[in-house]
Amino acid sequence: MLRNQPLAPARAQRTAAARRLWQEHGAALVAEGEIARLLAEYHQAILRSQGLMRSDQAFAACADCAGEGGGASCCFAGAEEWYGELLLLINLMLGAELPDEAEGGQDCFFNGAEGCRLTAHFAICLNFFCPALSERLGPERLARLRRVIGRELNAGQALEEVMLRWFRERGVAVSL
Ligand code: SF4
Repeated sequence: MLRNQPLAPARAQRTAAARRLWQEHGAALVAEGEIARLLAEYHQAILRSQGLMRSDQAFAACADCAGEGGGASCCFAGAEEWYGELLLLINLMLGAELPDEAEGGQDCFFNGAEGCRLTAHFAICLNFFCPALSERLGPERLARLRRVIGRELNAGQALEEVMLRWFRERGVAVSL
């Protein structure tokens, strides 16, 4: 799905817009049976892939690497611009707190002392495995992780599509 289109509002504005959408429509959204079901499925898929990342020591490897470079990481500055209102809103629906302050030095705005501060992620954040991590995981574990992450992305996309339709039917504009 295309995001970060030219003239997209800045991150702070998109965050404010997502909060507004959550405040104005959150209750109605989660009361919608199909949305509630897809949200729960997406959350389960996220927890499954995060669990696998943890048990395969992938998070630990990323933390080691970031420590070595004094905070250097694949989560580079500017990556926060990939996140549009809809995905930020979904983060709020999943209980994530959208930060207003940077913590990650020169990294992506959403990177914090404990890693990424978001729950729902854009595809590139999930799909990128650097050569060192790929090697450390090995082909089998990497393939298994990619399968689980693929299911997470599919679940997220299914939710996004239904939510976009929901907003469209009510004449509410939401940026991707
Ligand atoms: S995983 Fe999180 S911190 Fe890293 S680039 Fe993506 S949004 Fe930013």
